[in-house]
Amino acid sequence: MDCLFCRIVAGEIPSKQVYADDSAIAFLDINPWHVGHTLVIPRRHVDDLLSDPEALTEITPAINATARLLVDRLAADGLNTMSSAGVAAGQEVFHFHVHLVPRFAHRPGLKELFRHEPEVDLDRVYRQILSRS
Ligand code: 5GP
Ligand code: ZN
Repeated sequence: MDCLFCRIVAGEIPSKQVYADDSAIAFLDINPWHVGHTLVIPRRHVDDLLSDPEALTEITPAINATARLLVDRLAADGLNTMSSAGVAAGQEVFHFHVHLVPRFAHRPGLKELFRHEPEVDLDRVYRQILSRS
C-alpha cells in the first residue's frame, strides 16, 4: 500500500483522529493553516473528487459532524471547506480529502486562508476537540 492516507486509515501511520464512521475518518492536518485544520477522507481509496461521483456524498455525514465538532469545541467564528483535485489545483496527497478549516475573527477573509498559523500545538488542539467540557 503506497498511499499515505490509506496507511492512516489502516492505522499504520499515526494520526490525531477526531471523528470516524463506517465510510470516513477525520484527523488533524499535520501542517495546519489555522487552529483545528482537519482533513476528512473516505476509508476506501479514491484519488480525488473528480474520479468517483459517489465519494463526496459518502463522506458528507462525516464532513457535517466534524465541522460542527470543530466549531463547537474550538469556539470558531467560521469555517472553510476545500478540496483540490489534480496537480494543477494544488493537490499533493492523491487520496480524496476535504479540508475543514476553522476560522477566527482575528484573521478574517480568504486571503488569510492559506497563511499557516505559526506554532500550532497539535496536542493541545487535539485535547480541546476531544474534551467533553
Ligand atoms: P492537498 O494539498 O493534497 O490538498 O493537502 C494535503 C494535506 O495533507 C496538506 O495540508 C498536508 O499538510 C497534509 N498532510 C500531508 N502528510 C500528512 C500526514 O502524514 N499526516 C497528516 N495528518 N496530514 C498530512
Ligand atoms: Zn489511499
